Order: sequence, then C-alpha cells, then structure tokens
Amino acid sequence: MNYIIDAPATPSLPVIGSDRRFPIRRVFCIGRNYAEHAREMGATVDKSAPMFFCKPADAVVGDGADVPYPQATADLHHEVEMVVALGAGGRDLSPEQAAALVWGYGVGLDLTRRDLQAQAKAKGHPWDVAKGFDHSAPVSALRPASAAAVDAQTVLRLSVNGELRQQGTLGEMVHDVPHILAALSTLFELKAGDLVFTGTPAGVAALQRGDRFHAELVGVAELHGRIV
Ligand code: MN
Repeated sequence: MNYIIDAPATPSLPVIGSDRRFPIRRVFCIGRNYAEHAREMGATVDKSAPMFFCKPADAVVGDGADVPYPQATADLHHEVEMVVALGAGGRDLSPEQAAALVWGYGVGLDLTRRDLQAQAKAKGHPWDVAKGFDHSAPVSALRPASAAAVDAQTVLRLSVNGELRQQGTLGEMVHDVPHILAALSTLFELKAGDLVFTGTPAGVAALQRGDRFHAELVGVAELHGRIV
C-alpha cells in the first residue's frame, strides 16, 4: 500500500508454545462482572444488561514490560482480569455459538485512572480517558484454548510487591464468557483478533511508581511488570 505516512504497526501478543504471535484487532472490556467488586465501587450489578467499554489495541503492552505511570492522574488502579482472545467472529450470536469463538486465554490488567473515572461518572461523561490511555492494558502471553484447562474453579489473582491484592475464581463472574461474547456480538460484529477483558474481582487499589506486579490465571498464564 502506498500510504502517505508510515502505517501504524499491528499490535500483537506472544503465544505460549509457539513462535507465532496473535495479532490484536480490538480490545473490549466488561465492567462490574464480579458482584464484590461492583459493591466496592458503590455500584450494583445489572444481570440483564452487561456494561461494556473499549481500549485501543495499541494500549496493550506485553509481559515483562515497564509500564509508565500515566499522565493526568494521581490514582492509578489495578484490575486483574482474565483476557479471552477470539479466533473467529460473528454478530447476534447465541451463547453456544459465541463460545466457539474463543481461541485462547491470558491474564491482563485493566489499568484505570480512578480519579478521572470518578469525575466522568459524576459528570455523565464517557470513560475513555479513564480507561483507554496509553499502556493501559498489560496482557500476558496467550495460551491456546486447546492447551488450557479453564473452568469455574480457575483462580485469578494479583500480587503487588509480593503481597496478594486481588483473588477470585472464574465461577464468581456474573456473566460467563459465552454470555459476555453473545451480548457483545449484539453491539459489535466480533472478529478474529479481538481481545475481551472479562472483569475484575474485589480488591482494586492504587499502584505507585516502582511497584512490581504479578498477575496469574493459575495454570494458564502469568504476567509480570513494573510501574515506572
Ligand atoms: Mn475492569
């Protein structure tokens, strides 16, 4: 293609057990998908209407990266989440059809400028500046679903500087993966290359410069990094 400027690179993630990479198209996120986390945020869970937002694909940073403390905040929060990677797409899918889109799994942090999010909520503004900033989506290498044992007992957890901050099991999710993807597919046509952050358990808290984080989807994927 004869572009007038250099074309932006395609963001991607490594694949566990392969030298090939997973190219990222879009990043979708569900909010308030663990009841205890919704409660700690002073919100209620609407089981009939999952709440979604997006991050730009180039906000994804890989395992082992230094994550710069972002601009324009004094309250950067961690939210550890299972990340689902799609190998196929579709729209207006049933949960059964949507389940078949899953290509693999990882673990990520939905980094949040909590002070800007509180301002947005108070003013009825969109969440983009709170959620979709540069480097706001550290994600592990992805494990193919064919090689991953993921069920309701699978543990999701985050330690910061060796201290456990968040822990939950996937069974605590209000909307499970097939229902998240089915609901998303009524709003957007999903495609191969999409990543979906599936919500965070309770225990979200602030990160400071120098903090080292270790996120795990136990037995499936691990993510290390440092705030600088
Ligand atoms: Mn989140």
